[in-house]
Amino acid sequence: MAEFAVVEPGSVDEVLDLLARHGEEAKPVAGGTWLALVLRQGLLWSSLLVSLRRVPGLAGIAVDEAGNLRLGAMVRLRSVETSALVWERLPVVAETYREVANVRVRYQATVGGNLCDADYASDPPALLAALGARVVAVSQRGRREIPVRDFVVGHYQTVLEPDELVTEVVVPALPPGAGAVYLKYRTRSHEDRPCLGVAAVVVPDGSGRLARAEVVVGAVAERPQRLAEVLDAVVGRALDDATIGEIAERYAAEIEPLSDLRGSAWYRTEMIRVFVERALRAARARAQREGRRT
Ligand SMILES: Cc1cc2nc3c(=O)[nH]c(=O)nc-3n(C[C@H](O)[C@H](O)[C@H](O)COP(=O)(O)OP(=O)(O)OC[C@H]3O[C@@H](n4cnc5c(N)ncnc54)[C@H](O)[C@@H]3O)c2cc1C
Repeated sequence: MAEFAVVEPGSVDEVLDLLARHGEEAKPVAGGTWLALVLRQGLLWSSLLVSLRRVPGLAGIAVDEAGNLRLGAMVRLRSVETSALVWERLPVVAETYREVANVRVRYQATVGGNLCDADYASDPPALLAALGARVVAVSQRGRREIPVRDFVVGHYQTVLEPDELVTEVVVPALPPGAGAVYLKYRTRSHEDRPCLGVAAVVVPDGSGRLARAEVVVGAVAERPQRLAEVLDAVVGRALDDATIGEIAERYAAEIEPLSDLRGSAWYRTEMIRVFVERALRAARARAQREGRRT
């Protein structure tokens, strides 16, 4: 493994100064679970590792005045999974983080690291994209919010500039009566990354029709797949089995999946059809339960 220095700054300002001065050569270290692997294998090089471990203010879980759930970049996945606040406000978020890897990885890996490694075979990004979540990135040049949906641009590539640090992820509350689910499909061990993962959100309009539907399929291509035209076309329709079947068919027909150890492109296409349908049915059932409660 190539030589590198490790620094442990004590504030966000110090981190931003280091990132601005060292550019591509510096890499923030969150949980280190992904970075340690790629550095050891020589797939990535960095002369300066900037540990975020001692930086205050990055590990909170809170709900703001607008009802958004705010997850700090350094929040461990296990903390999301076990947070009473997350279970109360957006249980689907806790359910999804609980699906990642195994408990040892979840104790170490972080919300920010999971998004920033931009690994195609990840779970949370599909759900966060479907919920309309935003990534908050800061640098000495300012602050910006990036929709999770636009955050990953290719294999292991995000829109982040080398001098930017992710500080938190902002997840909007679901509208009253909405239903959301994330279904993970594994083909190897129960701890494995997904062969595919489908996040579905349905928002009824009060008269049994769809005000909005979101379906995002993860782990089948270099970035999470959301088909805007398909989703726009079903607004105003009843969320019956025919509509669900149509959405599933179109996702299966229009996504061009990759092949890897977890499944061939052909197999993934078949599973996209099955899991988009299952996810929408499950989201509809949840919306119906929510509707009876509101
Ligand atoms: C055995 C194993 C199984 C796994 N299985 C799954 C799975 O089933 N599903 C799944 O979704 N994931 C899975 N993962 C990935 C895991 O959940 C973590 O997402 C991943 O390892 C990175 O998290 P980390 O906090 O350790 O990030 P790190 O390794 O510290 O960093 C990852 C990358 O993000 C950058 N980075 C980190 N934090 C920031 C920040 N705040 N701002 C800017 N850049 C930042 C780093 O510079 C680095 O490039 C698995 C990982 C392992 C090791």
